[in-house]
Amino acid sequence: MPDRLSPEDQIALNWNACLHDVHESCALAGRPLDAVRIVGVAKYVDESLTAALIRAGCRDVGESRPQSLWSKAETLAEVDCRWHLVGHLQRNKLRRTLPLLSLLHSVDSRRLLRALDAETERTGQTIDVLLEVNISGDKAKTGFDVGDVVAAVEAALPLQRVRVRGLMGMASREGGSTQARRDFAALRQLRDRLAEQFANQISLDELSMGMSKDFAAAIAEGATIIRVGSRLFEGVPGIS
Ligand SMILES: *Cc1c(COP(=O)(O)O)cnc(C)c1O
Repeated sequence: MPDRLSPEDQIALNWNACLHDVHESCALAGRPLDAVRIVGVAKYVDESLTAALIRAGCRDVGESRPQSLWSKAETLAEVDCRWHLVGHLQRNKLRRTLPLLSLLHSVDSRRLLRALDAETERTGQTIDVLLEVNISGDKAKTGFDVGDVVAAVEAALPLQRVRVRGLMGMASREGGSTQARRDFAALRQLRDRLAEQFANQISLDELSMGMSKDFAAAIAEGATIIRVGSRLFEGVPGIS
């Protein structure tokens, strides 16, 4: 018996354990087991371990840097998965990024909305996006301030090819699981208010919230997408 699993087997084990925990959280919350989509955030690993994660069953793969997404989506072009960008997208990287994306989680300014509109008008592509909200109010974090989200939705309504599907957010760094749960509840309540206010124009079904350490709280508060990174690569040599 080898005393250590191969990186591929370790990743498959981690994926299955994560899926199990997600199902358990769904059951505890009285939600269907398939109510939550797991985006495997592969920013910690190279192409070959990203491919291992996909083979283990992860069909939604996220990156936080556009350049990493470009190179992986290119190398793994034949592999069946959907690509998600969860980090900031600079406007000069739109052209190369948009054709690869299934969902952009991180629309954080009205300037980016305008640039997305211009680029999709040019190409004819339709893009699904989430508005990133700075729920914790931490100045170091990206995302719309809570008070600016209504205006952002209003700015997005007339855009023909940019479809806002919901909100994305991160819990405060401080305050542990109690604060995380409060932050997630606040994001869900904001989404519910917007969904009511704009009920005739837009459906805001998606809530992308929860990461490795706090996804149980996010699922309890209504997350439809969680973004899990480090948890999937625990125990893989060379990954912290
Ligand atoms: C890295 C990252 C994640 C994954 O975080 P983990 O704690 O590693 O699970 C999720 N969302 C965003 C925006 C990230 O940058």
